[in-house]
This record gives sequence, C-alpha cells and structure tokens, in this order.
Amino acid sequence: MPASPDFLPAPASAARPDCELCREPGGTLVFQSAQWRVIPAADADFPAFYRVVWRAHVSEWSELALAEQAALMGAVTAVERVLRDSLAPAKINLASLGNVVPHLHWHVVARFDWDSRFPAPIWAAPVRAVDPPAVARLGVALEELDARVARAVAALAPAA
Ligand SMILES: [Zn+2]
Repeated sequence: MPASPDFLPAPASAARPDCELCREPGGTLVFQSAQWRVIPAADADFPAFYRVVWRAHVSEWSELALAEQAALMGAVTAVERVLRDSLAPAKINLASLGNVVPHLHWHVVARFDWDSRFPAPIWAAPVRAVDPPAVARLGVALEELDARVARAVAALAPAA
C-alpha cells in the first residue's frame, strides 16, 4: 500500500463540526482525491469491504450534481471491479445508508456464500460461524487488495 497521504478534511465551507467523517478519514486511507476517498472498513467478518466517502459534508445522494455523482460512482465502480477480478465473490453489495453517520458514503462489499450473514445483508444477525476466518478464505492478502484498489481508483483522479 502506498504511504498514506495527509488527510484532507471536509472544506470548512462544507463541514459539520459534529461529523466524524468531516474531521477524520474514518479508516486507513487507501486513496484520496480532492473529492472523495477510499478506506477499508476493517470488518473481520467482511474483510473485502471498502467505503468510498465524499469529502464535503453532504447527507443525501441527490444533493450532488450529476457530474459529482458520476465521479463518486466511478470510484465505487472501480472498487467493485477490483473485488470481482481479485476475489470472484458470489455478489457485490453496494449500499448507501448513512443512518448512523449521515455523511455521504458508499459501502462496497464482496459477499460469499460462506460468509457469516449470506444471503442476508451484512447488518443482519449472523447465520453461521466462519472457520477458518473470512480473511484466510479470500486468497489475496488485504495489503495486496488495498494496493489493487489504490491503483484502480488512482486512474480516475489525481491523488490529493
Ligand atoms: Zn460530514
């Protein structure tokens, strides 16, 4: 994984003082452009799970202009492609909820028929124990997956 660049918080004109995603990256920076960043969710049950976070504080998708939506969805799509090409998951799940942290971000999650909640959403109660653990079943080290994600999204926008 490339060295983490210095985190760019939300610009003061578009930040909420009480919002953690305006002030903090929310995870290890895999890549950051001037408009969005990619962080791993660091969820042991779902190790192939990234978040694509809009830099400015916006709570709803329809608050973005069409070109901004295209830029953000370009990054989401690039992450999805890396997960598909690297892991051949049963399904990719995309979600934008924001009920807990209402700062626009997309979840991009590789799902497998062996994972602890499949076929329910990742937020459902577990339906099975996973042993060996999920990270050992991916077949790709997380550092390598992060590096692949970083390379894919870096092709979309300059690093900021
Ligand atoms: Zn925010």
